[in-house]
Amino acid sequence: MKSDYDILVIGGGPGGALAAWTAARSGCTVCLIEKRPAIGVPVRCAEGVGKELLREYMDPDPRWISADIRRARIVAPDGTAVELDERKAGAEVGYVLDRKIFDRELVWKASEAGADVFVKTRAVAPIIEEGVVKGATVEFCGERKDIRAKVTIAADGVESKFARWCGIDTTVPLREMMSCIQYLVTDIDIDPHSNDFYLGSDVAPEGYLWVFAKGERSANIGIGIPASKNRPEMRAKHYLNRFMKEHYPDGKIIECIFGGDPVCRPLPCTVSDGLMIIGDAARVVDPITGGGIGNAMYTGRLAAEIAARAISAGDTSKEALMPYDTEWRTSKMGKTLERNYKVKEFFITLNDEKLNDLARSIEGINFSDITVMGLLTEIIKRNPKMLIELKGLT
Ligand code: FAD
Repeated sequence: MKSDYDILVIGGGPGGALAAWTAARSGCTVCLIEKRPAIGVPVRCAEGVGKELLREYMDPDPRWISADIRRARIVAPDGTAVELDERKAGAEVGYVLDRKIFDRELVWKASEAGADVFVKTRAVAPIIEEGVVKGATVEFCGERKDIRAKVTIAADGVESKFARWCGIDTTVPLREMMSCIQYLVTDIDIDPHSNDFYLGSDVAPEGYLWVFAKGERSANIGIGIPASKNRPEMRAKHYLNRFMKEHYPDGKIIECIFGGDPVCRPLPCTVSDGLMIIGDAARVVDPITGGGIGNAMYTGRLAAEIAARAISAGDTSKEALMPYDTEWRTSKMGKTLERNYKVKEFFITLNDEKLNDLARSIEGINFSDITVMGLLTEIIKRNPKMLIELKGLT
């Protein structure tokens, strides 16, 4: 392990991998560290991703695609189901990935491009000199070592501590930290090309429960509810177990994972002197869906491009790194995050009756746009008063 790099990336998820891959390709010396003993495990994700989004970065490969998703179904509390089907829409839905392989593939790509990769290596403290982040102290097989870098990229996910150690407030309010639990269930009858979302106060209060196909007879079945909604007698796992009993009593659970998903607004600033923050660590998760794979990859790539430029210009100050923050905030992703945050804040105020009404108002429609925006547009068309309520949100 060398002790000096252009760029140090902390975290080997999709965000960190894209940052390391991009930086290495642009000729920087790069070190990526991951605290876990292996990349990609344990998977803490339902693994759903849009097809178009993925193609931005690489061609789809059957090795890391578990299911080709052609339909999505949203099930209201009274059972009204809204279906979005790519055959009717002429638009694509997505994939369910196998992130155990997908995450590794991304890190391999970074490594092939020249990045040094170290697993079981944890950042334990930042190196800060005169207010400037200059790398990290890492623990590697029980030994401590300093790795210095011109730019350090914090890609340490939802549990991110690195930015906090550098003096940035990364607190997620309890009501905006989704408490998630997911089972990988096998030997069940499912539609192998559908991702289903269940809503309602009895199913997943202020959140949703998902059944994402993982193959012909397997699915990721999970739930996310605000951590503030957990009660000792009714936690996320109780809701999930109740659903399992009702819908898949004979399903075999072969994996169980827990995790948090931040559905707050992004950090107010994602750079400081010598430091950039990306992916879940920057809280760039879609507040409605909780999806963050694509945004982590996007911010990872953008951060590395701007870091490489700053390094070649010999200036890695906050000001020089600021174009990263400005660019993602004004990008389609940044605008979508802001809009979806407001929509999420509105939707969590709706009771079951209202959710049923909205679902009924769009039941049977042929959607031409299979996105959150497409869905929202149809809802607003049929419930114009909602637009006024949404505009009232700040
Ligand atoms: P991560 O993938 O979390 O990677 C961060 C890495 O940093 C981890 O590997 C961690 O071990 C490492 N790390 C942390 N601290 C240190 C340290 N000090 N030193 C070294 N390494 C460190 N998103 C979707 O798009 N689709 C979905 O279907 C979906 N489902 C989800 C379901 C659940 C239950 C949860 C919890 C999340 C889900 N998400 C989903 C969100 C998605 O998993 C994340 O947005 C995505 O993984 C973010 O990527 P990242 O690279 O920012 O962080």
